[in-house]
Amino acid sequence: ATHAPFYEKDCSSITPPYAQLIGKWEYVRELLNNRPLTLAEKILYSHLNDPEKSLSGGGKIRGESYLQLTPQRVAMQDASAQMALLQFMSAGLSRCAVPTSIHCDHLIQAIDGAESDLKRSIASNKEVFDFLESAARKYGIEFWKPGSGIIHQIVLENYAAPGMLMLGTDSHTPNAGGLGLLAIGVGGADAVDAMTGTPWELKAPQVVGIHLTGKLSGWATPKDLILHLAGKLTVRGGTGRILEYFGPGVANQSCTGLATVANMGAEVGATTSTFPYTENMRAYLNATGRAPVARAADKAASMGFLNADDGAEYDEVIEINLSELEPTINGPFTPDLATPLSKFGSFVKEQGWKDELSAGLIGSCTNSSYEDMTRVAELAKQAKAAGLVTKVPFLCTPGSEQIRATMERDGVTNTLEDVGAVVLANACGPCIGQWKRDDMKGEENAILTSFNRNFKSRNDGNRLTMNFLASPTIVTAMAFSGSLSFNPMTDTLTLPSGKPFRFTPPAGRDLPIEGFTQGNTDYYPSPTPEPQPETEVIIRADSQRLELLEPFQSHFGDSGLELPPLKVLMRVRGKCTTDHISAAGPWLKYKGHLTNISENLLITAVNDEGGDVNVAFDHDRAAGETETDTIPAVAKRFKARNQPWTLVVDDNYGEGSAREHAALQPRFYGCAMIVARSFARIHETNLKKQGVLPLWFADKADYSRIGSGDIVETIGLADLIKGRQNAAVKLKVTKRTGEVFEILTKHTMSEDQLKWFCAGSALNFIRSQMS
Ligand code: SF4
Repeated sequence: ATHAPFYEKDCSSITPPYAQLIGKWEYVRELLNNRPLTLAEKILYSHLNDPEKSLSGGGKIRGESYLQLTPQRVAMQDASAQMALLQFMSAGLSRCAVPTSIHCDHLIQAIDGAESDLKRSIASNKEVFDFLESAARKYGIEFWKPGSGIIHQIVLENYAAPGMLMLGTDSHTPNAGGLGLLAIGVGGADAVDAMTGTPWELKAPQVVGIHLTGKLSGWATPKDLILHLAGKLTVRGGTGRILEYFGPGVANQSCTGLATVANMGAEVGATTSTFPYTENMRAYLNATGRAPVARAADKAASMGFLNADDGAEYDEVIEINLSELEPTINGPFTPDLATPLSKFGSFVKEQGWKDELSAGLIGSCTNSSYEDMTRVAELAKQAKAAGLVTKVPFLCTPGSEQIRATMERDGVTNTLEDVGAVVLANACGPCIGQWKRDDMKGEENAILTSFNRNFKSRNDGNRLTMNFLASPTIVTAMAFSGSLSFNPMTDTLTLPSGKPFRFTPPAGRDLPIEGFTQGNTDYYPSPTPEPQPETEVIIRADSQRLELLEPFQSHFGDSGLELPPLKVLMRVRGKCTTDHISAAGPWLKYKGHLTNISENLLITAVNDEGGDVNVAFDHDRAAGETETDTIPAVAKRFKARNQPWTLVVDDNYGEGSAREHAALQPRFYGCAMIVARSFARIHETNLKKQGVLPLWFADKADYSRIGSGDIVETIGLADLIKGRQNAAVKLKVTKRTGEVFEILTKHTMSEDQLKWFCAGSALNFIRSQMS
């Protein structure tokens, strides 16, 4: 079989400048005394803005040094692009410094099928799409219209190339790592660094080697590899680390399968994931119209640039024998609660849950490759031949117009629809709460998805929906049974005739024999568009969805470089993801309007004093004000009183996504500092970018000693800012009872990040450098 593409792309702007990257890599190699490097290091160091500055300290690099990097590309999804563009616009440039793309995917709501959903969503989000499109035209950004597909699938199909470094304003940007690059999820302010040509800073991650041996077989798929690994590493295990896969088990997996694995590295908090260049990556590049990129990558690989050096040292090595992997189901409510399929039935029983599935959902950016879709189509064919249809609603979101059109041409769509599937628009839909689900309102129920994330309420807004993650094949097989305890590897279904029926594990096909077809090319942008500076960026004066940004003021007045006394708004208990800090679902429509979206601040967070959700105490209430109110309402009162404030938070605060609103919103209401038992990496950076100081408790037990209404003052911050990098920052806490004590904190602020903090935000600092 050939995989001849139906088209060839203009590859001039998408082929990495390998000669330049390899030149820098060789230079760095000498600087590091020719020590063997991991692939992740090669890619990072070849994108250093100034290798001497980042690497010449002589000390440990990984986990210690700050790297100033020059990414080659930026991709943004429609929800996060709004704030990123608003920030970029306020920098005052006429074009982006690197190729940038916008993808309209998150704002498409799934109700009753692709065509009508798309039409309705375009109408209801017209204002935002017009803004994004006009800004794209003005600044020369590639604009992928609603219907074109999900950002990560489109990036994999069009922009990703082995050995490159790119940023995306979405936490699943690492999906592109399936093509052997480093793709990192960031907030909009980080994207603005790359878009303005400002070096982008990253604390050099540690590198974990995942040594793959054996071969996946039967029902086990790449999704099961990452579900299994999530169980091992937990949601924190990848923090500050890149997962670099190596070993004989890499080459025999499809490029899109590797992308699934890289995609869900985000679920363990990894900076990103990557793989050495393989034959299957070459085949995928060729099949997606990028033969020139494949040829250039072949050459770079022959020079040793696209794999780790022999003897490269990892910070930790994890061994996985793929031959031993069985399908795994993770959840509910957290992606690291991994249960092997063979034990899932008894797990459900032990928990006392109803043995019922209420819906099966496949697709999304995680699992909508041609291979995934042909695998599930094989199951659907087997079921249809036996006279079965799915027992529960079965929804499919293709990742891109290219996938949708190729599925349709090859009969995959018909096969799925024949057994009851509803094919939704090429967009995020139910994966991000854009699912208008009419059944199960407020009822406990269980859904299985092939998506990547399963926080409470994420899919249908119902906190009682238990959302389990599995491979598309397992989701599909179980949709025919309607029961959670069904194990398609061992169990049979009963046919209307009374006879037993057992599925045969499907093989699928990684690339279409006839090549991919692009489908409706009206959705596609022209490559490398030139900026049209005369374009007016459309923001209505009375808009409720878009609002120009006012720069944040610096926290420091004339009184020096310690923060003013801060009042503690609340002590947040337990898991507090970016979904808790800035909820999605209906709030997505306010992504470009900071005042409006801030009304959702921490509305699902638990107050450790009292254990209530969305309740904060106001100890300084004025006459007529209540003692407690919602968290955003109390934050608003603080803002109105010009009372700067702080939050005390638990472990891994801000895990989950790159959502910078989770940093912008507290800042908007006057938050100057957050003290945590620990932070998730992207969120911590986002806080720094917006001028909020993230501090870590040196002793985690101190968390419980500070409560709402206490006053916290910094001691030693001025020394830190004045260049004493090792200065310890202490906090003087004055309790409401009058008791006073000091506690020690730690921080990860670099020299440059301290400059942002002093300026009030990174953007203020960038602006000051440009004027
Ligand atoms: Fe969209 Fe879900 Fe993928 Fe995020 S994880 S890009 S919401 S499909």
